[in-house]
Amino acid sequence: MSFQSLGLSEALLKAISKKGYTKPSPIQEKAIPPVLEGYDVLASAQTGTGKTAGFTLPLLHLLSENPKEKYKPIRALILTPTRELAAQVYANVREYSEFLNLRSAVIFGGVNQKPQAATIRQGVDILVATPGRLLDLQNQGLLSLKRVEIFVLDEADRMLDMGFLRDIEKVIKSMPEKRQNLMFSATFSKEIKKLAHGILNQPVQVEATPENTTVEAISQKVYRVAKGLKTGLIIKLINDGNWKQVLVFTRTKHGANKLSEKMDKAGITAAAIHGNKSQGARTKALSGFKSGRVRVLVATDIAARGLDIPLLPHVINFELPNVSEDYVHRIGRTGRAGAKGEAISLVSADETTFLRDIEKLIELKLPVEIVEGFEPDPNASTVPVKPGQGRQNRRPQKSKSNKPNNSGGSGEGSRRNSGRNNKSRRPRRSNEGR
Ligand code: AMP
Repeated sequence: MSFQSLGLSEALLKAISKKGYTKPSPIQEKAIPPVLEGYDVLASAQTGTGKTAGFTLPLLHLLSENPKEKYKPIRALILTPTRELAAQVYANVREYSEFLNLRSAVIFGGVNQKPQAATIRQGVDILVATPGRLLDLQNQGLLSLKRVEIFVLDEADRMLDMGFLRDIEKVIKSMPEKRQNLMFSATFSKEIKKLAHGILNQPVQVEATPENTTVEAISQKVYRVAKGLKTGLIIKLINDGNWKQVLVFTRTKHGANKLSEKMDKAGITAAAIHGNKSQGARTKALSGFKSGRVRVLVATDIAARGLDIPLLPHVINFELPNVSEDYVHRIGRTGRAGAKGEAISLVSADETTFLRDIEKLIELKLPVEIVEGFEPDPNASTVPVKPGQGRQNRRPQKSKSNKPNNSGGSGEGSRRNSGRNNKSRRPRRSNEGR
């Protein structure tokens, strides 16, 4: 399929081609047509799938079909959980709208509000915002959402994880009831479904896994190791392999801090990124990692969601995740855009159950290695560390087709099917008055 056949305008096709995209990603193929037709859309997609263009391109198309030349009220609101993501999405909006007569702005906290308020006063069609600053400016009477036609809730699961439910509800109340809604989420918990039910009207459902987990071969490996020797082993692996850019996952924020400090002490520049870090520290860590100044980024699952870090050669699970699906998300960070990637897991005895569950989910037995001097402890218990936090099935069971491709095949067959339900759905937004 081509971008042309999706029915996007010439101005958008020009911007797409300038970005160097040759064909739409699966989520774009599935999400763009229903959005263009005016449906509400519920999309299951995480960073790396091309989801941002999946909602931005049709949104820009719809707005530019019916431009408001003189007076520019906010016609599209894109709500994101973090400032980093807001900045990333805004950068995308700017690029895709380069050849359109649409204005956009981004607002988030932690910086002076005056320039943001001034930009909005001059009129913007598309506003990208984090909930806190949005409500702040709204409460001061500096912006109005009364003319919003399209509302996008990006990374809805993360919004809930970060406690933004109340804020989202307030934002929704301040928008007109008649509007088009697009909701993107990597996971679908009960809470997310409830939120979707409250926001969306007979949505078309679409889903996609990151391209790289399906198209690219990811070499996966397990090192069995004693718990207390993990830090030593990870340092050895990074040093021996002379790896320059490594994303490491830990299960806790505290664990991320501790590991990053130990690596620094061992002469490997590392930074931790998680929810307790200040905005400044997170931005610094991420930009340091992207530029190559920071060699190792140690992240928790929630912090890593939404980060656009292209072309990662190595992902290491310092600890296996509590939820098997997170393993798939984590390793999806490697082997992007046609590059080969390696995903390594350091597994101690108490993680044996987690490993089995992951292997069951991905339908693969992972190759196991033991490094001399870093052997597993034969006397260690295989009982999971935190029995209270047992493995919950908080994610919908993925289909067979969702397994990452470890065999180097084309992976075409492993794409997920669209969950699109064409029956009994009805567009609630017509092009009238747009
Ligand atoms: P996202 O999932 O929106 O964060 O996008 C992940 C990365 O994929 C970004 O760097 C995008 O610029 C890139 N991207 C989005 N759509 C396409 C496409 N159709 N072809 C190639 N790259 C894309």
